[in-house]
Amino acid sequence: MTRSIDSIRNIGIVAHIDAGKTTTTECILFYSGASHRMGNVDDGDTETDVDPEEAERGITIYSAAVTCQWQGTTINIIDTPGHVDFTAEVERSLRVLDGAVVIFSAVEGVEAQSETVWRQADRYRVPRICFINKMDRIGADFERTFEAIRDRLCGQSERNVQPLAMQIPIGTGSAPTPDALSGVIDLVQMQALYFDAESQGKEIQATDIPNRYLEQAQLWRQKLLESVAEIDDEAMKSYLETDDIPVDRLHELIRSATIHGCRIPTFCGAALDYIGVQPVLDAITRYLPSPLDRPPVEGTHPNPKKQDAPQVRAVSVDEPLCALVFKVQTDQHGDLFFVRVYSGILRGNSRVLNPRTGKRELVNQLWHIQSDSRHRTEAVETGDIAGVVGPKNTATGDTLCDPQRPVALESIRFPETVISMAVEPESNADRRKLDETLTRLARQDPTFRARVSEETGQTIISGMGELHLEVIRNRMQRDFKLQVRVHKPRVSYRETVRSSSEAEGSFQRPSAGESQFARVRVRLEPFEGEQAVTLRNGLKSGTLPEDMETLLVASVADEANAGGILGYPLMNVRITILDVDHRSGETTDVALQAAAADAVRNALNEAGLVLLEPIMKIEVVTPEEFLGNIQADLNARRAMIVNSELRGSLSVLEVEAPLSQMFGYSTQVRSLSQGRASYSMEPFRYAEAPPEVLERMLG
Ligand code: GDP
Ligand code: MG
Repeated sequence: MTRSIDSIRNIGIVAHIDAGKTTTTECILFYSGASHRMGNVDDGDTETDVDPEEAERGITIYSAAVTCQWQGTTINIIDTPGHVDFTAEVERSLRVLDGAVVIFSAVEGVEAQSETVWRQADRYRVPRICFINKMDRIGADFERTFEAIRDRLCGQSERNVQPLAMQIPIGTGSAPTPDALSGVIDLVQMQALYFDAESQGKEIQATDIPNRYLEQAQLWRQKLLESVAEIDDEAMKSYLETDDIPVDRLHELIRSATIHGCRIPTFCGAALDYIGVQPVLDAITRYLPSPLDRPPVEGTHPNPKKQDAPQVRAVSVDEPLCALVFKVQTDQHGDLFFVRVYSGILRGNSRVLNPRTGKRELVNQLWHIQSDSRHRTEAVETGDIAGVVGPKNTATGDTLCDPQRPVALESIRFPETVISMAVEPESNADRRKLDETLTRLARQDPTFRARVSEETGQTIISGMGELHLEVIRNRMQRDFKLQVRVHKPRVSYRETVRSSSEAEGSFQRPSAGESQFARVRVRLEPFEGEQAVTLRNGLKSGTLPEDMETLLVASVADEANAGGILGYPLMNVRITILDVDHRSGETTDVALQAAAADAVRNALNEAGLVLLEPIMKIEVVTPEEFLGNIQADLNARRAMIVNSELRGSLSVLEVEAPLSQMFGYSTQVRSLSQGRASYSMEPFRYAEAPPEVLERMLG
């Protein structure tokens, strides 16, 4: 079955960990009939958290695409991870979304992760709506959270972006609070909505607004109308004349403002108590864009000679096929590739081109995934999302396209890994299996890398944080039945140079008959470019024959990629090839390679070594009584407290600290706060390591 483009919504649900993403998703799947019963995070039996590990942790780590139907609309929910160690996964899924629902806890408000994700969504211009959840908890505050969204998230944008309160809560907190949360007021229709707990919120009762909320509701509605009128002259005129905007027109205006990203409709409720979820579903259908509302995709021709003009594909089934693989799910049985089709039609039993490898891939079967069940389909049309079985050498971020009309979409940028760890199989017979498993895991998760160390022969895996590597290790054991021993995780250092230097390298072998010779001169300097190492060829044209010049450039690059003086990868370095001496007949490939390597080594020694260490950005949220403990501990970890503020009754510390000092922090935080503080951590930047660290390494 194919679905018409304008009735598809590809959305993501994003939130800071624990804001209620999984609980809300469960409700959505339940109300839309995709699941027959409501799962509960706290019992570890939810639909999106099918991975046992996720269910165990109560967090969603691996995104999967789940499809459901609401009022004639097909909603594809791309599940995004809630943990900051996995921001790359969020980033990747944002690329394929047309819109997002951002969930906040009404108690904690705007937290670090929501801010990070918000900025990422800004970058990819993803229209969004907000849901202020947990209105039933003590300390919940709709207005404060709404204002934080306005000031801390929307206010940071250059454009005039404003949240729109579409609802206000009826009450806050839960019984025995006298004014406990009982429902929400819809400010567009001006009615009260109550959700029947018996039917797990399926039955909704709409009534007049209770008298004591009337005045407040009218005030909020005025604000809503004013904010909407501001964006449209005609609406402003009608609003000034009649003091109102007709409901249909209001929906239209809100839809267009949402799609343009200048207004963010904001809803509230408590997913755990089944309050307020269906209005969010209505809003997804009503206000968030269909694939047709999004701009055409642009890519490049894979052939470098044809890259002058971008390749544009309109959102239409009549265009050549262009699809993006945004997720590879791997288990013992094989790989399922999640793709989004941007143009054309992807058919089962067809061959498509992967422009990265230049090879054709077989598209064997196509599946629509419905949480834990799946339905086979023959074709997937523009705008839709599906799981593909068949490709062999395709990885996350790859484009699949019509072989006659090749196009490569910009591949997704991933941050550098900051932590690594040696692994070995418990039994030597499993060596090959380890290699295979790691290759598959890396294909699935581009922020994870595996390599064999040249010096020690050990297999080294690296990633974004301690938790990331722990999850990978558990997956090896659980999904691939591979028992491994791991060494202690270590920080991934980088090397750069202190100052600019120029040096020469030469190779000379005056043996009788076949003497060899080459001399190369390079400059090395600190430089922050797009790439870790920037390479410039400063040779005057004609200095060397073309093939030798190509070899020289490749040799310099190879030597730079081999790492710095201590063997760590180089970063923030620019190398310029200045000059080369050669003699015809004597300057062999070997001589040129050796001279190039020698020149780079000499220049590195000359320029002086600077060791860089990864600095993490950490947000700690704690009840105030533990603040002293936590601060003292952070100070002992060379942490710099960048900001400290009160959010409701909780203290929030924004901290930068070297990763080397943060090992085991999760255990420490728990024990310092009787389990009540939480934190999130992500790679932030590299900074010079203290001299003692370098001395220890050189010693
Ligand atoms: P996620 O990490 O964003 O996926 O959040 P979860 O859905 O896993 O929820 C985190 C915790 O908050 C769980 O213990 C939920 O039961 C709880 N929770 C979720 N929604 C609500 C709500 O509306 N009210 C209350 N009181 N708790 C909620
Ligand atoms: Mg979750």
